[in-house]
Amino acid sequence: MASPGDPPIGRQEDSAMVRQEDSAIVRLTDVHKSFGATEVLRGISMNIAKGEAVCVIGPSGSGKSTLLRCINGLIPIDRGEIHVGPHAVHRLKSDKDMIALRKDVSIVFQQYNLFPHKTALQNVMMAPIHVLRENEREVRERAIALLTKVGLAEKQDAYPGELSGGQQQRVAIARALVTTPSIVLADEPTGNLDTRTSIEVMSIFQHLNRDRGITVLLITHERDIAEYADRIITCRDGHIVTDTPVAVRRIAEDELKALPIEVGA
Ligand code: ADP
Ligand code: MG
Repeated sequence: MASPGDPPIGRQEDSAMVRQEDSAIVRLTDVHKSFGATEVLRGISMNIAKGEAVCVIGPSGSGKSTLLRCINGLIPIDRGEIHVGPHAVHRLKSDKDMIALRKDVSIVFQQYNLFPHKTALQNVMMAPIHVLRENEREVRERAIALLTKVGLAEKQDAYPGELSGGQQQRVAIARALVTTPSIVLADEPTGNLDTRTSIEVMSIFQHLNRDRGITVLLITHERDIAEYADRIITCRDGHIVTDTPVAVRRIAEDELKALPIEVGA
């Protein structure tokens, strides 16, 4: 029996919830999105804490890409709220607000989405120079450092068509990082890559997350890729059906060391 001196249970739970939400860098509340008569997101709520690495998995057509595009403000939602850091994404209207969001949140796509007539270096430099109007010399230095970090120092003048899929994805990751975002979103970033290259790309995401504290939200339909994250959220038919921590997180770097060296690689 509760006595008058006991703390009010309901209020305690409320304050715990508020604390959890306070530490969240991504906060979705009852997000709905339809395309015509097709309701794709049917009330999605989730919190992602700063520094977390979260994977969203689910079958094709379950609304994963739509969810990511809504978080990045690429498509407007019909109902609900999306907060990303200081940005109330569901209310953003002006280009200026959108640019501020894009500086904080980068996205990497399955198809890399590089400009084919620009070199690797030019692709990485584009947004800071043309959108953010930053100083070209500083951007160039940062872009070269990032390409070096992803193992492409020698390829900075190559065009996307001269690069392998894994190399193109690394350019796309360098491009995502050049704006020094606090969050990186990735939509099936290993979808076109073989096993070894997938692990290499996941090792870059893990490095960003574990060593640089960047929050990572990654979409995949492969469960084994999802196990590089801290937490796996499963979507089905526009709903979240499970949200569970990963008991034993895979470590891409260790796995790469254990893989046999490929002959001729
Ligand atoms: P997933 O990434 O999980 O495969 P998507 O978010 O791409 O799923 O798509 C979910 C559903 O929304 C699909 O039925 C797809 O056809 C539909 N859809 C996605 N984008 C659009 C759009 N721009 N216009 C109309 N329908 C869309
Ligand atoms: Mg998709």
